[in-house]
Amino acid sequence: MQHREGGCLCGAVRYELKGELQGAALCHCTHCQKQSGSAFSFNLFVSEADYVQQGDTKFYVDTGDSGKQSYRHFCGNCGSPILTKDPGLPGMVLVKAGTLDIEYREGLRPQMEIYTDRAAKWLARVPGTQLFERSP
Ligand SMILES: [Zn+2]
Repeated sequence: MQHREGGCLCGAVRYELKGELQGAALCHCTHCQKQSGSAFSFNLFVSEADYVQQGDTKFYVDTGDSGKQSYRHFCGNCGSPILTKDPGLPGMVLVKAGTLDIEYREGLRPQMEIYTDRAAKWLARVPGTQLFERSP
């Protein structure tokens, strides 16, 4: 069974992923761009039952490009985005892959890219990914 660990920049929030990942996607939506302060976010689909967290996150209730609400959890101390809970994906958490510790990133690769219509024009698509102009 795959085991991965990660946490925020300051270490106040730590987590463990106990099972196999359910998927991995780059999201180019403008909300992921804002929240990450970067061109896109790299999200891991994890069963809620496989996600174990120590330390508390704060969350922001966001209304995404899709018009649906999502809960964006982050470290209240250092501001690192940790995960998103989307009521449209019950039982699942979307963990920000960039918060994984470096030794737990092996084998990670996005399978899809979503909201490519919002993607930075200078950025090439990752070969082999399934592409969606919005969400699948
Ligand atoms: Zn922190």
